[in-house]
Formats: sequence, structure tokens, C-alpha cells
Amino acid sequence: MGGAGMEQNISPANSPAQQDSLFSMMDVFLISLITGLFTYWFFFRKKKEEVPDLPKMQSVAAPVRDSSFIEKMKKTGRNIVVFYGSQTGTAEEFANRLAKDAHRYGLRGMAADPEEYDLSDLSRLSEIDKSLAVFCMATYGEGDPTDNAQDFYDWLQEADADLSGLRFAVFGLGNKTYEHFNAMGKYVDKRLEELGAQRIFELGLGDDDGNLEEDFITWREQFWPAVCEHFGVEATGEESSIRQYELVVHTDVNMNKVYTGEMGRLKSYENQKPPFDAKNPFLAQVTENRKLNEGGERHLMHLELDISNSKIRYESGDHVAVYPANDSSLVNQIGEILGTDLDTIMSLNNLDEESNKKHPFPCPTSYRTALMYYLDITNPPRTNVLYELAQYATDAGEQERLRKMASSAAEGKALYLSWVVEARRNILAILQDMPSLRPPIDHLCELLPRLQARYYSIASSSKVHPNAIHICAVTVEYETKTGRLNKGVATNWLKNKVPNENGSNSLVPMYVRKSQFRLPFKPSTPVIMIGPGTGIAPFIGFIQERAWLKQQGKEVGETVLYYGCRREREDYLYREELARFHQEGVLTQLNVAFSRDQAEKVYVQHLLKKNKENIWKLINEGNAHIYVCGDARNMARDVQNTFYEIVAEFGNMGQPQAVDYVKKLMTKGRYSLDVWS
Ligand code: NDP
Repeated sequence: MGGAGMEQNISPANSPAQQDSLFSMMDVFLISLITGLFTYWFFFRKKKEEVPDLPKMQSVAAPVRDSSFIEKMKKTGRNIVVFYGSQTGTAEEFANRLAKDAHRYGLRGMAADPEEYDLSDLSRLSEIDKSLAVFCMATYGEGDPTDNAQDFYDWLQEADADLSGLRFAVFGLGNKTYEHFNAMGKYVDKRLEELGAQRIFELGLGDDDGNLEEDFITWREQFWPAVCEHFGVEATGEESSIRQYELVVHTDVNMNKVYTGEMGRLKSYENQKPPFDAKNPFLAQVTENRKLNEGGERHLMHLELDISNSKIRYESGDHVAVYPANDSSLVNQIGEILGTDLDTIMSLNNLDEESNKKHPFPCPTSYRTALMYYLDITNPPRTNVLYELAQYATDAGEQERLRKMASSAAEGKALYLSWVVEARRNILAILQDMPSLRPPIDHLCELLPRLQARYYSIASSSKVHPNAIHICAVTVEYETKTGRLNKGVATNWLKNKVPNENGSNSLVPMYVRKSQFRLPFKPSTPVIMIGPGTGIAPFIGFIQERAWLKQQGKEVGETVLYYGCRREREDYLYREELARFHQEGVLTQLNVAFSRDQAEKVYVQHLLKKNKENIWKLINEGNAHIYVCGDARNMARDVQNTFYEIVAEFGNMGQPQAVDYVKKLMTKGRYSLDVWS
């Protein structure tokens, strides 16, 4: 993962309002239980990362709370449990939608986070009449489970449970540009069957490179009839709109109890306490923010985050997660168009009192804070949002259009694809283009998905910079088909994080996510790094680390870089640093492809081919480790094909054997990818 890989639209936000809401409160309000829990979680996870040989957990019991989902289902009269393995919230959204669907068929569903329950209880699900377990499983990175599904995955691998009474169905969320497309969905589907469970509907494979939403609704529209047939039930009527949360407006509230953008603990941004993680990010000060390119229209930047006194540790190759804020002008426009006082303090309380999720985001808070820090207002909304919003369109034509787009009819899907997805219409654009659609803001806040953290490949080595994390990113900005300028949320927000004297203006909520992208254990092992564009990021860290090892008197093997950019004089990132490393001898080869400096494109893979003999020698004789970082869709695939060719030619192999050879390198951790699309 790297760059602004996950984001698509929006614009810069660094308004005084934003700063105010983060830092306007004073008192300490500490929930010691939560802190204790995080402490437990932190040490537990760390142990798992650092001591891979530690015996794995036998069950996936949550540390607190009633971890039996069976008891909970019995108590609340549910038949269907929809577990989600979710990293960015989409699988969770799908799980919620399926759970909500159930009531149409006279069934009752609940969405559940596998991290919170003891999944060995799956063998007992048949105790419940008409019971079914559905799994919405996202695949993360290179075929990995999401963080919240890791323990479930470990358990599945080792379990010898008898799941013969269990009925199940799986929908996987993946991306075809990645090597291990939907690995997790496929694995869960296969493994549950191996353990004796009964599949009642075929595995769905959603592709985020295509249209994930459409894949999901297509699967769902066939899934429910299969459920009906299996249980002998029928749909009771039209899909209906049910509110999940109740609005409470606070007119007389102690402002010290109001969330101002925190992810977990109230006041956590004023009283920072380690350990820092997704629910408790560290506020790092930006100490450097400089433009890296000399020309061109784009803005490529190098940022340095100060992590002194945070106790945050990282390794070269890890990712830094950053929580951005939405553009305040977008937030204001939504407030204006809906005629809302954005500073109203409110709570959205779950109507289902048994639910573990009390609110859709930290409450009480203001609409402004919710739209700024907690909700995704820039991605095109999913069809369920359009469906729910349709009831508020007073113009019959607009209402019909919204309903049609949310339907599973071919015409509706096509309209959704062109009018929303391809036109990159965000919620504001939809409200602007449908003048009769004016939903109450609290319902809109209930429907919009959560704003997600953005991950960047760390561009520094902790050996050299133990108190800093460096980021290399390019601002995302493009014009949509409707002529609107969409700006990437995080990169434009980061661009405006300029270091200043008191630091208040340049704070970035962040935490570190461990990765598998690691330098070889022995420094003497050669490395071949391929990273065009912002794909250079982790390699700056790798090279810094190899230089440091060399300084420590270690024998450091060949360190070979293949870098590519558009033009030598325009976007040759880290030119001086790379030249210096090369001169000092730590970077033994610096191969740079300038794609646009001549009539014919020259890419990194062309240079690899040119040096194929040397590449083969490094792989075959030197046991070199290969690393690829950057664009997944084209570059990583083309580079991999080039390795197939080189291996086939010099290893005297046919294409299938060469493919197999490279795949084996991957399994052995000698060919690693850190790519995004
Ligand atoms: P650039 O767009 O600056 O590209 C770096 C170099 O890679 C250029 O010389 C480019 O050549 C070249 N290149 C293009 N296609 C290939 C290919 N098939 N094989 C090898 N080299 C190729 O890089 P960025 O870092 O800005 O982004 C890289 C890609 O990553 C983007 O094109 C996009 O698809 C993806 N991406 C990046 C994000 C980010 O924030 N960095 C966010 C989301 C996606 P030329 O352009 O002249 O063809």
C-alpha cells in the first residue's frame, strides 16, 4: 500500500474550524477500562508479530464482554449472523445490509465482528432454528486477512471442529489487480466446507477493480431466494427503510463530554497516552513538508512526522496510517444545502439496545465534526444509501431515478454506474443535481460510511530516524465528467500541513501498521528493488537501513534499485539522496527509466530486460530478494511478466515452470509486493 492508493476525490482542509474542534477542550476524562483494553490488545498483537513461533490461539475469544454470539442470538431472537472481515469498512457495510435484509423474509439478522466473539461457537449455531452464518470477507494486501479476521483465520487453519450442523454462505471482497484475488473469501468458503459445514449459496467474488457494489447486489439478489428455498420462507414485501439509530439533540450539554474528532477515547487528543493504534492515534507534528518535483502539474511531497515520546516503533517497510479530515468547504456546503446548523450537538443512538455498536461514530458530537472527521463524504455513495435517501426526494422523477439506481434491474445498475460511479458524484454533487432531495441531516449521517484512515509506505528507516516517520505522496486531483474538481482527501489535507512554530496547525493523527514487506534477515543478501513513481517510498527506508548497517561494520550485499519517473528534470524524486547513496557505494546499482524523455516509453521493466543476465545471477547465485512497490494495475503485473521471461530464458524453463519458480520465490518471501490500485 502506498501513496494515496485508496482515495478518489475531495479537497484541502485546514480551516480554523477544524483546528478548533480538535483542540478546544481542556479537561481530562479518562475511561480506564478502555485504556486497559487497548493496553492488552497492544501487547497481545505485538507478541504475535514479533514472536512468530508462539503457539497460536486455540479459540478466538474476545478478552471481555460476552463472547458467545450464540447466546446473544438466542437472547435477541436472531437466526442469521453476518460476520465481516473488514479493513476499510466496506465488508462491514455489506454485512449490515445483509443483516437488515433478513427481516423481509421473516428472519432476524445481526452483523458481527469476528474479533469480538468466540468463533468456535459456530459448531453450535444449529441449536437455533433456521440459522445461517454469512461471511463478508475482505482480502487485504497480498492475500492476507483483515486485522479483525486474523484470529478467526488462525483458528480456521488449526481447528478440527465438526461444523456439520452449520449452514453458511460467503461473499468475498477483493481486487483483481492483486495477485491473490479474494484469497480470504475463497479460503473461508473452502475451509468451512472441509470442516463439514453446509454451503447454502455459492461463494460471491466481489472485484473492487470493477464494480464491487454491483457484484454485491447481484450476489445478494440470488442469495436471498436460495435462503428462502432452503428454509421454506418467502419475502414479506418490499424492501423497507428502517432507521437503525435514533436522533437525540443535546441542547444543554457539558462540552467536555462532546467528541471533537477523537477516534476512541474522549479527549484522547488532549491527553495522549500510549499505546497508539487505530482507536487511539498519536498526534504527530509535521516537521517537514517539501515539494519533491521540480516541474509538471502535480504536487509530489515529502513529509516528516515527529513521533518522539510516542513509544511508537516501526520497521522499514511498515505502513503509516493517517486519519485525514474532510474539506471544510465541502462540509459547509452540505450544511447549507440541507439548511442545517452544523454546530448542533447530537447523538445517534442505536435502537437495538443489545448491539455492541451504540453509535455509528463517537457521540455526542456536532454535525460539523461528524462530517469533517467521521464520515466519508467524498466517495460515490453506495446503492443502499440512494435507496434510503429516495424517500426524501419530493420530485417524483428524482425519486424514481434514485430508486431505479438502487434496484437490481439491469437498467438501474447501468444508470448507477454511469450517473454515480463513473461521474464520481459524491453526496454533495447528488444533492446539487437533485434539487428536490433534501434528507434530514441525521439520517444522512446514519447512512454515510465512516471516513477511513489512509495508509502510506513509510519512506524512512527507524535505525536512522527512530523519532520520525517519513511519507512520500502525490496529491490526487482530477476533473469529473460533470466538470467538478475532485481532490483526494488525505493528500490535499497533508499538503496543507505546513510546519509552524507552535505546531498546532500541523498535527496528524497517525498509527503504524506492521507489514510483511521486510529486508532480508541477513544484510549480506542482495536486494533488487523496483519502485517507479511514489513506489520509491519504502526503498528510501531500505537504502537508509542498508547504509546504516554498513556503517555498523556489517557486510551488506548488493543493493540494486530500479526507479522510474516521467522526466529527469521534472519528477526524479530523491535525486540527491539516491546519488549520494550510490556514490557512497551502499546503492550498488541505480537504474532509472525516464518514460517521457524520448519518443518511446522507457519503463523499469525495459531496464530489467536490458540487465537480464545480471538479474538472473543475483536471483540464482546470490539468492537475492526482490521487492516491487507502486501501481498494481499495470506496473507490478508487467514487472512480474518480465521476471517470468528472465527466469524462463536463463533458467532454461518453459513459461509454466518460470511462473512456478517466481511463485515459489513469493512463498519463500523472496519476491514481495507493496502495491496499490
Ligand atoms: P507516476 O504516474 O509518476 O508513474 C511513475 C512512472 O511509472 C512513470 O514514468 C510512468 O510512465 C511509469 N509507468 C506507467 N505505466 C507503467 C507500467 N505499466 N510499467 C512500468 N512503469 C510504468 O507514478 P505515481 O507514483 O504518481 O503513481 C503510479 C500509479 O499508481 C498511478 O499511475 C496510479 O495508477 C497508481 N496510483 C497511485 C496513487 C498515488 O497516490 N501515488 C494513488 C492511486 C493509484 P508514464 O506515466 O510516462 O507512462
